[in-house]
Amino acid sequence: MKLNRRMFVGAGMAAAASLSAPMVMGAARPRVVVIGGGAGGATAARYIAKGSKGAIDVTLVEPTRTYYTCFFSNLYIGGFRDFASIGHSYGKLAAEYGINVVHDWAIGVDRDAKTVTLAGGSMLPYDKLILSPGIDFRKGAVQGWDISSQNKMPHAYKAGSQTQLLKAQIDAMPQGGTYAMIAPPNPFRCPPGPYERISMVAHTLKQNNPTAKILIIDPKPKFSKQALFTEGWDKHYPDMIEVIGPDFGGKDASVDPEAMTVTIDGEVTKVDVCNVIPAMKAGKIADIAGVTNDKGWAPVNAHDMSSKTDENVYVLGDSSQQGDMPKSGFSANSQAKVCANAVRGALTGSKVFPARFSNTCWSLIENDDGIKVGASYEATDEKIKKTSGFISQVGEDAGTRKATYEESVGWYNGITSDMFG
Ligand SMILES: Cc1cc2nc3c(=O)[nH]c(=O)nc-3n(C[C@H](O)[C@H](O)[C@H](O)COP(=O)(O)OP(=O)(O)OC[C@H]3O[C@@H](n4cnc5c(N)ncnc54)[C@H](O)[C@@H]3O)c2cc1C
Repeated sequence: MKLNRRMFVGAGMAAAASLSAPMVMGAARPRVVVIGGGAGGATAARYIAKGSKGAIDVTLVEPTRTYYTCFFSNLYIGGFRDFASIGHSYGKLAAEYGINVVHDWAIGVDRDAKTVTLAGGSMLPYDKLILSPGIDFRKGAVQGWDISSQNKMPHAYKAGSQTQLLKAQIDAMPQGGTYAMIAPPNPFRCPPGPYERISMVAHTLKQNNPTAKILIIDPKPKFSKQALFTEGWDKHYPDMIEVIGPDFGGKDASVDPEAMTVTIDGEVTKVDVCNVIPAMKAGKIADIAGVTNDKGWAPVNAHDMSSKTDENVYVLGDSSQQGDMPKSGFSANSQAKVCANAVRGALTGSKVFPARFSNTCWSLIENDDGIKVGASYEATDEKIKKTSGFISQVGEDAGTRKATYEESVGWYNGITSDMFG
């Protein structure tokens, strides 16, 4: 065929257009909506936006303008951090990474139409939806307590005003008073979290209220890093902390927020502070999206964190049921990077690397007395599977413990800049 000039130009333009149409036209960019701007969601949004260099339209839906990390919120209670130091804003995600940050609640997901509805009335279409809404509490988990009691008996298990309230209540305890914690059953957000909190409460009371008592009412027969915490409590806070396990009524304790009492095995105890941490489930929007199971969590495929119910929906962090990883900020951040890589690959054809995950949970017991537990994981067809692990040792020297604490401070700075830029 002989090409005349007109035909040649036309053919060339068509070829160029088909290669670059989505970028040049702007309108056809694939859309990712992320619900929840915490450890999982903020990381996923940032990695997708950064890695795709504008080829993917990323929207992050998060109601709060300042995200207060649960990680290190116990250190605020212990007086090791000020409140402002655990707050982070979304400005850089919008300004530097071009993420459309929408401060609103997601209240509906239509998986057939692939849209998300916001409380403000807007509708967001998506090609891929990422859910990382954290946890919600199970109704009726602790007899006598519901969410309307949270000002009298705070959970402080979503950081922010609840954490400030709990600290204020501890600081206002009468001399020789009693702090009680109703610990949650498994599985729950941050397995060492309640016990690090006990250490931080004890640290504060030891200075300001040395005759005060701490009661842990626990439905579980054992807890994370138990030998290490117990050793630390015996050493730093002797005679202050009492654990009431399931065999002694720890399983079915009830509370009365008006009377400020806890009833254990029929015996009523008056307390001054009662920190109720109820049983947990996936954040409610995961239920609304229809991706949770009868246990209240969202099962996912370990290779990419996609929901077992819908390949266009991904669930990260605490809400997911993924296998062996604990529900932690470190885990959520690690899962988010695997998910971001897979989502980019699916939408732009970029290279997808095999999924690898890791986690470390540090806890502070007393000044410079840090401990940790951690592991590496790989994806199998069945679940995220633990491949190796490590834990601090009982009887470690002071130098090791100090180094462990310092490591945790480095981790905090690293993860928060990985989330928020
Ligand atoms: C006291 C305590 C100490 C902890 N210490 C550590 C630690 O030392 N190390 C560690 O790794 N982990 C720690 N954790 C655990 C860690 O905080 C969580 O595992 C982690 O935040 C989970 O990330 P996520 O993305 O699943 O949820 P989150 O980080 O909680 O983020 C969820 C976000 O979703 C938003 N959201 C919820 N519903 C909606 C909706 N419908 N629409 C829009 N947005 C929504 C919420 O506002 C929230 O910002 C601790 C937790 C607690 C409570």
